[in-house]
Amino acid sequence: MKLLSGAVLFLVLLGSNLRAFDHSNKEESAAIISGFRDVAAEQEIEKRFLAVPDPKLAEEHLRILTQAPHIAGSPEDKATAEYVAKKFREAGLDTEIVEYKVWINYPAEISVEMTAPAGVEMHGPRREHVDGDPFQDDPRVVNAYNGMSPSGDAEAEVVYANYGSPEDFDKLQQLGVEVRGKIAIVRYGENFRGVKAFVAQERGAAGVIIYSDPKDDGYYRGDAYPKGPWRPASGVQRGSIGFMFQFPGDPTTPGVASVPSLPDSKRVSPAQSEQLPKIPATPLSYADAAPVLEHLGGPPSPREWQGALPFTYHVGPGPAKIRMHLKQDYQLRTIWDVVGKVRGTSSPDEWVVAGNHRDAWVYGAVDPNSGTAAMLEAVHGVGELLKSGWKPKRTIVIGSWDAEEEGLIGSTEWGEDHARELGNAAAYFNVDVAVSGTKFGASGVPSLKEFIREITKAVPSPRGGTVYDAWRKTSEPNQESYHPQETNTSTHRPPAADLRGEVPVGDLGSGSDYTVFLQHLGVPSTDIGSTGDYGVYHSVFDNFAWFKKFGDPDFRYEQQMARVYGLEIVRMAGADVLPYDYEDYGKEVSVYLDAAKNKAKDRFGDKAPDFSAALEGARHLEEAGAKILQKQRKMTGAPDRLNAALRQAERALLIPEGLPNRPWYHHAIYAPGQYTGYAAVVIPGVNEAIDHGDLRRTEQQIGVLAAALNRAALALEQYR
Ligand SMILES: [Zn+2]
Repeated sequence: MKLLSGAVLFLVLLGSNLRAFDHSNKEESAAIISGFRDVAAEQEIEKRFLAVPDPKLAEEHLRILTQAPHIAGSPEDKATAEYVAKKFREAGLDTEIVEYKVWINYPAEISVEMTAPAGVEMHGPRREHVDGDPFQDDPRVVNAYNGMSPSGDAEAEVVYANYGSPEDFDKLQQLGVEVRGKIAIVRYGENFRGVKAFVAQERGAAGVIIYSDPKDDGYYRGDAYPKGPWRPASGVQRGSIGFMFQFPGDPTTPGVASVPSLPDSKRVSPAQSEQLPKIPATPLSYADAAPVLEHLGGPPSPREWQGALPFTYHVGPGPAKIRMHLKQDYQLRTIWDVVGKVRGTSSPDEWVVAGNHRDAWVYGAVDPNSGTAAMLEAVHGVGELLKSGWKPKRTIVIGSWDAEEEGLIGSTEWGEDHARELGNAAAYFNVDVAVSGTKFGASGVPSLKEFIREITKAVPSPRGGTVYDAWRKTSEPNQESYHPQETNTSTHRPPAADLRGEVPVGDLGSGSDYTVFLQHLGVPSTDIGSTGDYGVYHSVFDNFAWFKKFGDPDFRYEQQMARVYGLEIVRMAGADVLPYDYEDYGKEVSVYLDAAKNKAKDRFGDKAPDFSAALEGARHLEEAGAKILQKQRKMTGAPDRLNAALRQAERALLIPEGLPNRPWYHHAIYAPGQYTGYAAVVIPGVNEAIDHGDLRRTEQQIGVLAAALNRAALALEQYR
């Protein structure tokens, strides 16, 4: 007993000792720059970069980008592409506008009416309107609708199914409420809206209405727009319900780029596409949804299903009856990615890719153009470095993606188009919502978590100190933390505790453009954002007036995000040795495996499978990671072979045949959840097999995971 604890203590001490001369000292946040021989020279370059991003210019970019509604495929969308291309060229980037032809819908006719009880009328869906918003009346504002919904008519009694999760539908079954043939009304939040449509379809619903309850992002949270930042009564959340957890991108070209010359015969027919839902779905405001919910009978809903409308919620079915009539205008439409490059000097084939989407459901001041404005100021900074004679070692590639909102389409098609070159990419850095408030957050693969922390230690915060200091304060566990109920495309929901007792960096699920890079191609990726009280997501009110009043009135957080984002690019493109930490990767996977092992015990009891092969694989990766970390720090000799080994490790985590039932997803450690959508499932093959109660598949997937982990370890060990 004593001996054992002594041995454990020794290992802990050894671990902390290895860290002591490196980057883990929690008490100090002094800048550390890993991966450079000449740290002083790099510091000088970074200082010059950090001086460039300008709040006034970020404001100018945002004002211009959001002056008109610019949904993917529209002339106004093309105009934003041209603006971004012009700024890229001014910075000295070799720039092109890349077209793809993709299958997306606009709404032609959308109507939702109450047909019972007699005498109740809904007059919906109404246009979004508040007093005094200067942007709401533009005729180009698209009617609220759900991207990727089929056309369809449905008339049926209504049932209320809370957030539309599998558990919610199970609960209805326990209550004896039939869903088959009914129209399900569900509220936004907790999971991705495509999951709501997916589960409702599985349970036999005839149609789905998704509405925004004031409890989740309306007056229950605080004052509604224009008095406060929360959703007003008429505000509607648009959004895609495509089954992106099957595969993202153009729904008719899984795994293939939708280049304009692609013959139609190479496309999957929409009726056969696993991404496209089969039942009609459309969104409503709570002003429009209230009369429906108020006229539901049946048992009172479970108390935790109660929203903030002023009556007791019942589950139905009926007597409220709805008629939905949806006519979608589906076509192959042209979209425009903007791609700018700076050729690297010594490692031109090792791309450092950074991207943000540009298209918006309406004006998109927060989502996504707060990110575009930050990206343009980051590019401005890179441009000034280039003009002063700086040259990146690696090729920098900046992408302004289109049609993200419909299903991560612009990034996915470009990624599929360049799969071969991306086999050598050093990193992909994403930003989507750069600023909806003041709270910094980040997600990333474990090998880049410490890299993100190091970056934030070099950037000043508008609150004083560094971004890292501010981040650490707001991520302390006793701090009341705000999770915007997955309204956002990426929530940076951090793990409960970090392995090092450090600021937690979240795991990458899906819901933004890093998906193709990480989960299809194995490029180490990060995603950053700064969040706050934001209730106008995907509505007409996510516009410049909202942003100036509630988002970032003086654009100092825009400046901060431009600096963090740009520094990720500059540092990764200039590093002598790639700053990855594979010891952390192995440790983190061990934690995932311990949790899965416990879950498997609960699920399978005595028959629970043996996890030792995968646990051994994770330890193998951790050990190989620790060894190569010593070599990364010494930096002796030519780093080319060392960098090649480091790059290959993430690719080695790809499963050649893909995940069971969704072969587009190749990554063994991260995928979007089939029943969560945005939130990551970690070690998805194993965890989803357990969730399905499939013992044989669990055993098989433990073997697949063990092989991937050992491959990654061997990739590192090939460097001697
Ligand atoms: Zn977005």
